[in-house]
Amino acid sequence: MERTTCLIAGGGPAGIMLGLLLARAGIAVTVLEKHADFLRDFRGDTVHASTIELLDELGLGNAFRKLDQTRLQNFQLPLPDGSTILLGDFTTLKPPYDYVAMIPQWDFLNFLVAAAKREPSFTIRMNTEVMDLVTTDGTITGVTYRERSGAEGTITADLVVACDGRGSIVRQKAGLVPHEFKVPFDTWWFRLPRPPSELGATATLIPQFRGREIMLSLTRETFYQVAYFAEKGADARLRSEGIERFRQRIAGLRPDFADRVDTLQSMDDIHMLDVRLNRLETWHRPGLLCIGDAAHAMSPAGGVGINLAIQDAVAAAARLAEPLRSGKVTPEVLASVRQRRWRPTVIMQFAQRVLHRALFVPAFSGKRAGPPKIVLFAARYIPGFTALPARLIAFGPRPEHAPDFARRPQNEAR
Ligand SMILES: Cc1cc2nc3c(=O)[nH]c(=O)nc-3n(C[C@H](O)[C@H](O)[C@H](O)COP(=O)(O)OP(=O)(O)OC[C@H]3O[C@@H](n4cnc5c(N)ncnc54)[C@H](O)[C@@H]3O)c2cc1C
Repeated sequence: MERTTCLIAGGGPAGIMLGLLLARAGIAVTVLEKHADFLRDFRGDTVHASTIELLDELGLGNAFRKLDQTRLQNFQLPLPDGSTILLGDFTTLKPPYDYVAMIPQWDFLNFLVAAAKREPSFTIRMNTEVMDLVTTDGTITGVTYRERSGAEGTITADLVVACDGRGSIVRQKAGLVPHEFKVPFDTWWFRLPRPPSELGATATLIPQFRGREIMLSLTRETFYQVAYFAEKGADARLRSEGIERFRQRIAGLRPDFADRVDTLQSMDDIHMLDVRLNRLETWHRPGLLCIGDAAHAMSPAGGVGINLAIQDAVAAAARLAEPLRSGKVTPEVLASVRQRRWRPTVIMQFAQRVLHRALFVPAFSGKRAGPPKIVLFAARYIPGFTALPARLIAFGPRPEHAPDFARRPQNEAR
């Protein structure tokens, strides 16, 4: 039987950041990730200002800035007359943390993994899926896993941390059931080509509204990653209407994409993602802690879930490193992580629910495409209004800072 000190289930933003930080404290940490790589289309591309500040504290900021990325300096919403309105202005924040970096999440996770691998106590095993929990006398003492090759095994640990996202198997096996909030929409993801003539065009993040439909496209090196939003449960209808109707929808929302929608061959090229918004009341069991989406699944609204997951990881590492070193991970220590992160989670999920109601529900019911009048008024006439949403998205309500044991000077950490 294999053994580690901290077993992390899932290599998303929460799992990789926690692994990196604990490894810097010299804790033996093993991350199990079920996929072979991080190349999943649906991953969000945002690295928030608070994460960039954290990377600076970890001595990784300079190297991060050298990765290919674009800087999002504001966010806007379209108006029916074709113009846009500025709702959040990141340039109102204090430099150098006055933007959100847009970078494919696989590049960001690979970057963090490379940094973590420089720590001798860090191990990551790709293609390795956590299947179940091992429990001894009521305490979770490890996990069973299955590799892509079919090989199975058990790893025991002083602590298991569930970072396995919205559909967390670890959370389910521990008998933890989240409270679900109603979400009015799902997303459908697909790729469209980005010809060389469009390379160098500035990346924008302005959603398109038309009739009862919403769409957003992320600019990647050789393609556009496109998200189509429709009311929850619309998948069967969209698929029965077929690919030609879907192509028309996309061309209607983005006429400049009409010349390439034919590259979508069938509805098999369109992947539905079930959007969830939920949270656990209790984030721990003896021997187990849940963080990130495993503790509180976030909707894409506002693009804040990655930041929240990373902040959970920082708060968890700061509270767990010493107890893990001394072998005294008590229920009180585990509860202190939830205690610290509860308020930011509730605030951000409340903000997402407000966005769902103010933006998505009226759009899908055909009542209104775009923001409510009161928001338009505030954005136009209240000085400084655009700084507030910018701060909430870029930093979140309670930004976390790197614990001392994880800090490095820039030139040492590369
Ligand atoms: C459509 C959509 C778009 C979004 N866009 C954005 C955005 O632009 N910006 C933003 O900030 N947030 C966005 N979010 C929210 C964001 O994706 C999540 O809040 C964030 O990814 C949570 O990070 P995490 O590390 O907790 O979980 P995840 O990112 O979900 O990572 C979980 C990891 O665990 C692995 N895993 C799962 N099960 C197992 C298992 N049994 N064994 C081993 N490994 C396992 C998965 O493969 C995955 O790598 C979006 C959400 C959705 C649904």
